[in-house]
Amino acid sequence: MYDIVIIGGGPAGITASLYGIRAGKKVLVLEANKVGGNILKAHMVDNYPGTPHITGEELGKVFLDQATDLGVEIKYEKAMNIVDSDNKKIIQTLDNMYEAKTVIIATGNDKRELGLPNEKELLGKGISYCATCDGNFFKKKDVAIVGGGEESVDDALYLANLCNKVYYIYNKKMDVSKLDKDNIEIIDNSKVTKINGDSKLESIVIDKDNREIEVAGLFIAIANVPETSYLLNGLKVNENGNVIAEEDLLTSKEGIFVAGDIRVKGLRQVATAVSDGAMAATQAIKYINTNK
Ligand SMILES: Cc1cc2nc3c(=O)[nH]c(=O)nc-3n(C[C@H](O)[C@H](O)[C@H](O)COP(=O)(O)OP(=O)(O)OC[C@H]3O[C@@H](n4cnc5c(N)ncnc54)[C@H](O)[C@@H]3O)c2cc1C
Repeated sequence: MYDIVIIGGGPAGITASLYGIRAGKKVLVLEANKVGGNILKAHMVDNYPGTPHITGEELGKVFLDQATDLGVEIKYEKAMNIVDSDNKKIIQTLDNMYEAKTVIIATGNDKRELGLPNEKELLGKGISYCATCDGNFFKKKDVAIVGGGEESVDDALYLANLCNKVYYIYNKKMDVSKLDKDNIEIIDNSKVTKINGDSKLESIVIDKDNREIEVAGLFIAIANVPETSYLLNGLKVNENGNVIAEEDLLTSKEGIFVAGDIRVKGLRQVATAVSDGAMAATQAIKYINTNK
């Protein structure tokens, strides 16, 4: 039986594993894909201290090396279900079952894409899903943001402070009164239909009048979605499917903790995921030590 099974080997899950193993606990990380999680997609990470000017791939490798050096067990399996049974949890993957005293869910959030040709190719070359992460790379330039909620309005304001001009493009009913600024052009009832550029983004086309807008950056800020609802059976989640937890990161089920982008939070970054991982593991350790 493991003390802690951590589902997800992104920044939150890996941090939790470091805290767990250093507390003398038997820890397993289950990772469906590759250790590092979403940060692997970042072309450059400049806002995480200690590793300046590092690519997402390199940072993911640092996380993996640190965990394996400390002896964390990592299995590349996708968790499919968590069964709460008496004093233990059973984690089912496609091929195996693991027993644990506690579980930390750190499965992250998926970015919602526009699904347009060129979107993937130009990621990190003008296309971004995170204003806080990448806004600084577009200082004094013209950018567009595709919005769809309150967070995207805040992102537009964040960008307006850095960039020359911000086009805020949206097509749903929402309050955009906060965006009444000289360098923000609000374009309502519109969708981006085309992304132009070869080695870097050059312009976008919107459906309204087939207008072409020259921009160096396009920020896609439509709501994030966790794709792991199958794991969250019976846990309290918000309308987007993110897990609700207090400061102690305990979910609505005893012995099950949550960390990182999967939970309801105001800022989804490596720094906040790492913080969650540390807190969730510390709480799991306390729980194990007091329930011996
Ligand atoms: C393009 C891009 C650029 C970014 N740039 C920056 C930046 O510059 N600075 C910054 O601070 N943040 C940046 N971010 C945000 C940052 O990557 C996330 O906030 C952070 O990775 C969240 O960590 P996490 O551990 O919560 O989740 P994730 O990193 O999403 O990791 C979750 C992990 O869980 C695994 N998983 C999911 N489901 C299962 C399952 N059922 N079983 C097993 N494993 C599972 C996934 O494969 C994944 O590896 C960027 C994000 C993107 C997409």
